[in-house]
Amino acid sequence: MIEAPEIFARIYARHGHRCPMSTLGGRLGLAALAALSSPDAELTAVYHNRTCALDGIALTTGCSEENGSLKVTTEGRHVLEIFFSSGEVVEVGLSDNAMQIAGEYRYLSNELEKGWESLSDQERSEREQQKELALDRILPALWQAPDEDLLTIRVGKGAL
Ligand SMILES: [Zn+2]
Repeated sequence: MIEAPEIFARIYARHGHRCPMSTLGGRLGLAALAALSSPDAELTAVYHNRTCALDGIALTTGCSEENGSLKVTTEGRHVLEIFFSSGEVVEVGLSDNAMQIAGEYRYLSNELEKGWESLSDQERSEREQQKELALDRILPALWQAPDEDLLTIRVGKGAL
């Protein structure tokens, strides 16, 4: 397994596994904070989808459902809104490119999990190995790609 940059290693430790969506959640959170003009301790956030991204968002922004600062809707939109006490709002969404990468991994993962109950231990560990190899190939691009390849970012005042 290749080594992840520290912030992403912490996301995977919180999340319990490596995956594109938790990684992209981290990218959403980092980009939202970077778009803010001044530091802010009183963040609240809304994410419009219940996915693995929530752990990446929580780790990078501190906004989580457990501490009451993150609201999750089930609209199925991969969009993070962060509200700052200054009145600024940052809205960060996943680009088509990011969604395509995540979708390809989900397809592969589903294929590898087919018939899981009837697999031998050896077959299971071989498939786990294939998944880890795919993640080693996919994740570095999601750690390193420039924001504009993965995200759409809007900054405004009040409700966007
Ligand atoms: Zn995940």
